[in-house]
Amino acid sequence: MFLEPEGLDTNEIYVNGMSTSMPIDIQTRMVASVPGLEEAEMIRPGYAIEYDAIDPRELTSALQVKSLPGLFLAGQINGTSGYEEAACQGLMAGLNAACYVGGLDPVVIERTEGYTGILIGDLIAKGADEPYRMFTSRAEFRLHLRIDNADERLTPIGRRLGLVNDERWNLFLKKKAQKEALTLALNATRIDPQRFGFLGLAADDRPTLAEWIRRPEARLAQLSSWIQDDLVHGVRETVETEIKYAGYISQQGRQVERLKGAERRPIPADFAYAGVPGLSTKFAKSSCASAPKPWAMRAEFLA
Ligand SMILES: Cc1cc2nc3c(=O)[nH]c(=O)nc-3n(C[C@H](O)[C@H](O)[C@H](O)COP(=O)(O)OP(=O)(O)OC[C@H]3O[C@@H](n4cnc5c(N)ncnc54)[C@H](O)[C@@H]3O)c2cc1C
Repeated sequence: MFLEPEGLDTNEIYVNGMSTSMPIDIQTRMVASVPGLEEAEMIRPGYAIEYDAIDPRELTSALQVKSLPGLFLAGQINGTSGYEEAACQGLMAGLNAACYVGGLDPVVIERTEGYTGILIGDLIAKGADEPYRMFTSRAEFRLHLRIDNADERLTPIGRRLGLVNDERWNLFLKKKAQKEALTLALNATRIDPQRFGFLGLAADDRPTLAEWIRRPEARLAQLSSWIQDDLVHGVRETVETEIKYAGYISQQGRQVERLKGAERRPIPADFAYAGVPGLSTKFAKSSCASAPKPWAMRAEFLA
């Protein structure tokens, strides 16, 4: 639990991590049971919201209802809870509805391309027994799904769909070119090991700037006089991150490629799941071909 002050001029504290809808007297005792909160006074109790949801396994990866082509669903009705969860699905369902009407192929973000892909992938494959929230821990490849490379992962998709104007696209291309040039220069520039604090190297050994950047304490900002100063925002940070974690990132890159290969392999519609030893009987028997059935969801919030 995190005790978060609500503001500078109030004594109110938000008990982050204690979402509950227990009766008030129990909530009061729960709070008082925390060392240091024995005297705390509860201003507003936590409470729950109930809503109906469909089984999201009834949806395609384009968020289209399998049994009702042309109907696209997004947000809480698909078993999620949360602003971002609803917003990203709204974007994808809207995009795909437009593609459907325009006779275009569906737009799907893969698990390896963005958290939206993880969320939709999880929902349509595993369903949601309780309100689904997006956590970074749900992603297999967190080193790859970084804030600083979101544009590299998603802007080309947006451009393909006509959602990225020329100005933004040109800035994206400029950033990409600058990133490549800076990475190349760092790998090609050899330095005086003593000046950069390298110890125990052979007399004629000349490490590269990239090797220096891999050191935990080394920062590209320390080379500001060497680096061109008209870099697009974010280039420096991305280059530094990618050089520092190059080994891990390339290892994850290989795993991403393997997963992409597996994801591109469709399971035939007549696949005999029952014949696969080890598949749970519950899973083998569940049918996803029927019309969506609503079921109740319960999300708990702290007031
Ligand atoms: C008290 C509370 C606190 C929350 N706090 C947080 C938080 O801190 N952070 C967070 O991420 N999430 C929070 N959530 C969850 C988040 O608000 C929801 O999960 C999210 O807004 C759901 O978005 P949605 O678009 O799926 O549904 P909604 O926002 O419920 O939108 C559905 C819309 O459909 C309309 N509608 C319904 N029936 C019809 C109909 N027949 N015809 C036409 N329109 C219709 C409704 O009026 C509504 O505008 C909170 C929710 C509650 C209730």
